[in-house]
Amino acid sequence: MQELESLKSLLASPQHVIITTHHKPDADALGSSLGMANYLKKKGHDVTVVTPSDYPTFLHWMKGNDEVLNFEDEKQALKALEKLKKATLLIGLDFSCPKRMHEFMPYFLESKAFKVNIDHHQDPKDFVDFRYWSTQAAATCELIFELICKLGDKELIDKDIADCLYAGIMTDTGGFRHPNTTKNVHLITADLIELGADNTRISRQIYDNNSINRLKFIGFAISRRLVILQDLKTAYFAINKKDLRKYNSQTGDTEGLVNYALSLDGIKIAALFTEREDGIKISFRSVEEVAVNKFAAEHFDGGGHKNASGGKSVLSLKETTDKFEQLIKENQHTLFNQ
Ligand code: 5GP
Ligand code: MN
Repeated sequence: MQELESLKSLLASPQHVIITTHHKPDADALGSSLGMANYLKKKGHDVTVVTPSDYPTFLHWMKGNDEVLNFEDEKQALKALEKLKKATLLIGLDFSCPKRMHEFMPYFLESKAFKVNIDHHQDPKDFVDFRYWSTQAAATCELIFELICKLGDKELIDKDIADCLYAGIMTDTGGFRHPNTTKNVHLITADLIELGADNTRISRQIYDNNSINRLKFIGFAISRRLVILQDLKTAYFAINKKDLRKYNSQTGDTEGLVNYALSLDGIKIAALFTEREDGIKISFRSVEEVAVNKFAAEHFDGGGHKNASGGKSVLSLKETTDKFEQLIKENQHTLFNQ
């Protein structure tokens, strides 16, 4: 609480703020960043949002999107570094491990500015001056809402901020379906709707925004790239570079694909292996007591939440899926009997 006071007193005078989030931001990462940015701007601060990479176009409607600096773009990265020189406050949102900032990480860590981390992932690393963190929260957007209220500024939450925060809560709860959909989530969501969040429009913008290429890609992946290990209660997709090229895959096009594997009757663990330029990106999903975050951390240099985690591999796609199958076989008793 003392630390909250230190943040509060810092915010009492105008600051140069940089907000950043994790590589390939999702709706919670970008929604919390832009929600926080719009709030701090209203309080009179100079605020810049820097993302370590680009993000899906279905998030471009958020207020402030046009001023976001993508650190993978050379010109925008230079601008971001200029801003960083003057920064007095750095805020990292929706990640607990600095590595997830990718190329932006060393600049963030070296800065002398006051640093804040707001997040809901497991095992936070010690890299900031003030952490507002809870694994009980369904989304970082939920924590931003709470923090703004604790700072006594609920009345500053306008429609644009409410829209950003609603988007993160909606997607991180899987459309209010996952076990993290608590009473608190519904209470906050009700408040956000009262404050102007347009729930139907946001849901359409995020979920009903497919290109025909993406729909064809999903069809192809389900018919040709899905491996079902029924006895091991496991199903996974392995998508190679050629597949992505063939369907002109854009950032965000593989998002949600893993859920088709998890939707199969009797399947408790699902994975998506995607061959990217810099290695294999992995998404893990599970149901009930099956914890994939420990599995991801121990074997695939990753982590996340109990039922939704990610990781990576520098092996080939085939070697990675072979390793995965082998590990599921070896660890089935611990994985399924928790
Ligand atoms: P997704 O599969 O949607 O990329 O990620 C699922 C969850 O796992 C998210 O909460 C995400 O933040 C986390 N996650 C994804 N990739 C990584 C990773 O490489 N390392 C860690 N620690 N967490 C990850
Ligand atoms: Mn999140």
